[in-house]
Amino acid sequence: MSERVSPRLQGIILDLDDTLYLEHEYVQSGFLAVGRSLSDDPDEGQRYGEWLVKRAAQENDGQTFNHLLTAFPHLGERSDVLKMVRVYREHQPDLRLADEWREALEHWRHRGIFLGLISDGELVGQQRKVDALGLESLLDHIVFTDAYGKDHWKPSPTAFQEMERVSGLHGPALLYVGDNVLKDFVAPNSLGWRTVRLRLPLQVRDRLEPADETFAAQVEVNSFRVLRDLLESWL
Ligand SMILES: [Mg+2]
Repeated sequence: MSERVSPRLQGIILDLDDTLYLEHEYVQSGFLAVGRSLSDDPDEGQRYGEWLVKRAAQENDGQTFNHLLTAFPHLGERSDVLKMVRVYREHQPDLRLADEWREALEHWRHRGIFLGLISDGELVGQQRKVDALGLESLLDHIVFTDAYGKDHWKPSPTAFQEMERVSGLHGPALLYVGDNVLKDFVAPNSLGWRTVRLRLPLQVRDRLEPADETFAAQVEVNSFRVLRDLLESWL
């Protein structure tokens, strides 16, 4: 029996957080920005920022700003959790796209491959990340799901269907690369796209296993090098 021949891969769609850069770098950048916002003295601000980074590394319970206010009650006169969340989300992140990613994106684009990005997350923060990484000029189409509202965050198919419309591509001509088995691969799997999980030791969710095959990527790779080679073999 002959193997079914899949169409050539013509569109590569990427996740943002923990795929195109490591999320812990953004978290660190955000905590340091919050620290700076809490004092006119740069050294004191740096200390609060480093305290937040260290506290979150010990226990990431989503209450790190509350813990800071408990440890340094006098900060309650200058700030509160809502203000700190706003500073965190709106800060200009200190992020840089890895050379290997930049080189690959430029190479694929040169070959005429359609390149896109689908990202969840609060809109302003995600836009600032894309700006900091310089992605706008490297990609053909970007969808921030938050622009359509929470109901359209992954695993909703909205953004993936938009990518099909904009690219004119469908099914296995398209690929989604992501990291999160709670949501990334459900919609592209259901639309017949190829799906690849980039699984790296420093990712926030590197230890998670998919609940069942609808949540799982078709292929899992453990380094950028392997991802690059795999994609090249599909082009
Ligand atoms: Mg991600």
